[in-house]
Parts: sequence; C-alpha cells; structure tokens
Amino acid sequence: MNDSVRFRVTSGTRVKLSGIDPAFKGRHADHASAADELQHYTERLRALQELLYADGRHSLLICLQAMDTGGKDGVINHVLGAMNPQGCRVAHFRRPSPEEAAHDFLWRAHRDAPARGEVVIFNRSHYEDVLVVRVHKLVSRAVWTERYARINEFERALAADGVAILKFYLHISSAEQLARFKARLQDPSKHWKITTSDYAERNFWRQYRRAYEDALSRCSTEYAPWYAIPSNHKWFRNLAIARIVVERLEAMNLKYPAPAVDLAQIRRKYHTAARR
Ligand code: ATP
Ligand code: MG
Repeated sequence: MNDSVRFRVTSGTRVKLSGIDPAFKGRHADHASAADELQHYTERLRALQELLYADGRHSLLICLQAMDTGGKDGVINHVLGAMNPQGCRVAHFRRPSPEEAAHDFLWRAHRDAPARGEVVIFNRSHYEDVLVVRVHKLVSRAVWTERYARINEFERALAADGVAILKFYLHISSAEQLARFKARLQDPSKHWKITTSDYAERNFWRQYRRAYEDALSRCSTEYAPWYAIPSNHKWFRNLAIARIVVERLEAMNLKYPAPAVDLAQIRRKYHTAARR
C-alpha cells in the first residue's frame, strides 16, 4: 500500500488517533537506509514544482498541523528546501492580529491561498479555529461546530479553481514531545524556543486529541484530504510527506506550455551554419 492511501483519512470515516502508531517506520530500519529514497523524492519535488510553475494552471496548498515540536519546521525545511524559492511561500498562522480578528475566520486563509503556479505551505492554518479555539473555549460550541462545514465549502471552492490541497497532521506521542522539549533544554541554540506555555499546553493533550480527531474526520474530503503522518521519526515523516506531495503533483498531469514562438524559424534564422 502506498503512503497516499495508507495515511489518508478516508472521507466520511471517523479516525481514531490511538490506533495510529506515531513511531511507525515502514520498510526502512533507520534514516541511513531511507536516505537514497529521500534523495530521489527530493529531486522529484524540485522538478515537479518547476513544472507546476511553468504550467501555470494549478497551484498547491499544503496545510501543516501538529502539537508543538511535532515537526512543522522540519517539514517546511525539507519540502520547501527542495524547491525553487521563487515559486514557494510559507504563511504562519499565529494568534490573529487585530486586523485578522476583525474579519471572518477564513479571511486570512483566503488571503494567503496560492496563486496559479505557486506552492504555499500553511504553518498551522484555518484549522486552528477548530483546534486551539475549541480547546481553550475562545468561542462557543455553537460557533466552532458550524465551522467544519464552512471549511469544507471554502476548500471545495479553492479546489474547483485549480488548487490542489494536501493537509498533514504530524502525529507524535506525548512522550516524544516531552523528549523533544528536554532535548531543547540541552541545546543552547534552541533555548530561545522554550516557553512555559508549551509545557502548559501538555495539560490539554486529550482535548487536543479529540479536536484533531474531529477536524480530520469531518474535513477529510476527496478534494482536500487529511493525512495522519507518524512523526516520531523525523526521517520517516519527511519521506512520507515528500512521497505524497510527489504523487499528488504527478497526478495533476502538468505540462510545459507550448512555445510562444516558431522554434523552426528561430533555428533557421539564428542557428544555421551560414549565419554563424
Ligand atoms: P514554533 O513554536 O515552532 O515557532 P508555532 O506555530 O507554535 O511554531 P508560535 O508563535 O509558538 O508558533 O505559536 C502560535 C500560536 O498561535 C499557537 O499556539 C497557535 O495555537 C496560536 N493560534 C493560531 N491561530 C489561532 C487562532 N485563530 N486563535 C488563537 N490562537 C491561535
Ligand atoms: Mg510554538
């Protein structure tokens, strides 16, 4: 079974995250054994992104959601790092600015959606409005429950207009998160990242789990699927995501546009022996 099928949350079904092993590694034992395959997909990503840009009819939106230390930054480095920066962009969804908060919750997502030919990664996304907002009761239950349908409508509209949408939930265990926090303490170059609120959020682990299960179950659609990616092993996470993105881009049947000029005439005019 390929990763595009294995980790995809089937539309209309209920996902149970406790049933997905965050330490899953597939057929490779370790990073070293996966390195060649990782390299292959990295090169394919670069070539396909250039083709997406040249083709100019479609775009790609990748939404990343995870608990802290889940690896959003690592995926961005790995996936975007493989691409030409001219055609890529990251939008980070933090606590809404006053301007963002003054609009409907989908406004900033629409504002940052990709233009044709472009790849955009949402580092967090409009799903925060049914995750952190729900867990911390920032709006009433009545308000967040109707957001799932609105998210689906929004994504359907983007997809209908040529935006390919892939959504990845980076699935780590609570023990792995604690180990990563501890590793930060031991690495002076990571000290600036440590906040007490990250630790405090651990008290809401179960509530986040439930909120993620609802978001993935209600909003995994044919046109904008969710993938729950085992992410305790960083190399496995990167490989699985690179593979799924490559497969999605390949399925788009991208083509270089036809030349805008008569090549035969240009060859005759500028490149024949008599003219040199
Ligand atoms: P990192 O910690 O790796 O830098 P991050 O995405 O956690 O990345 P932070 O600046 O630490 O970035 O956190 C952004 C915070 O903003 C998160 O806690 C997130 O839940 C919160 N946030 C995002 N969207 C909303 C929203 N709509 N309402 C309230 N809080 C939000
Ligand atoms: Mg953070």
